[in-house]
Amino acid sequence: MLIRERLAHKRPVFSFEFFPPKTEKGEAVLWRSLEQLAPLSPDFVSVTYGAGGSTRTRTLDIVARIKRELGIEPMAHLTCVGATRDELARTIDQLGDREICNILALRGDPPKGEAAFVAPEGGLRHASELVAFIRERGPFCIGAACYPEVHPEAESGATDLKWLKHKVDAGVDFLISQLFFDNATYHDFVGRAIEAGITVPILAGVMPVTNYEQIQRFTQMCGATIPAPLRQRLQSTEGDPQEVFWTGVSYAAHQCRALLTPPVGDPFATPRPGVPGIHFYTLNKSPATRAIFEILRLAHVAV
Ligand code: FAD
Repeated sequence: MLIRERLAHKRPVFSFEFFPPKTEKGEAVLWRSLEQLAPLSPDFVSVTYGAGGSTRTRTLDIVARIKRELGIEPMAHLTCVGATRDELARTIDQLGDREICNILALRGDPPKGEAAFVAPEGGLRHASELVAFIRERGPFCIGAACYPEVHPEAESGATDLKWLKHKVDAGVDFLISQLFFDNATYHDFVGRAIEAGITVPILAGVMPVTNYEQIQRFTQMCGATIPAPLRQRLQSTEGDPQEVFWTGVSYAAHQCRALLTPPVGDPFATPRPGVPGIHFYTLNKSPATRAIFEILRLAHVAV
């Protein structure tokens, strides 16, 4: 199933993101999480693409196994890091051979220890080039990333949006946003994207906080902001993992409910449609996402 077709018939869609683990123990955790999340019937699940050689083949193996054993539609992430055009072509063809028809096309972050992204000789420089490259190789459904709080390397929001439009025009079917905690950031961004002529669905990226140190590291890297009330609440938990978990889950559930439910009856609220979908960054764990779904269902939000 092509994700663009699902988006044409069903909204909102729900998706879960995983990463290829490096150890056998991590592998067991991943499959347990996948099995526990499968009953939530996600529209698709995605598997990230690492900077190193061995985790890359794992992405292909994991997406193929998800499709085969769990019957869930998978999407493989693919980056331009450290690969020539020939190598990228081989990977794309391997995905096609395994009937993986959804690809998230990314430039990728620089490998560990390297400060900036350098296009490999004979490789690609931007995600837009990868999008065009995939388009030429087959009838894939292509997703790409976008940044409501602006990509950290971009000169400005306007430049970032200009390049985003360029990327979408290269053949993107839908976008997934970087994680954000303030829904106004997402809605403002979607408004600016529409003004810039970007009409593909923009799925909202949500990450429930389950570890304060980790989320500080992530947000520093990707330029997302933790709003003051959430930060203060997380600080006040003083490292109690249970408290952090319930704070993170409650916040994310509240955030999802607001994203899925357009404001009704508030004459001062800006009218806006609900989101086309929510993409959960699971970090290979199931409890937070399961708890969010449970809370949303109890609140009669259709998920
Ligand atoms: P691009 O779209 O190429 O943009 C990168 C920067 O270059 C931006 O500042 C943009 O404004 C600028 N730019 C774009 N085009 C041009 C141009 N033609 N000329 C000049 N400037 C330009 N990383 C991984 O390594 N593996 C993953 O699996 C992975 N999955 C992700 C999933 C999601 C949903 C998201 C949001 C991010 C993911 N990332 C992943 C991180 C991503 O690779 C980084 O954020 C990376 O720094 C940028 O990738 P991009 O595809 O957005 O790049």
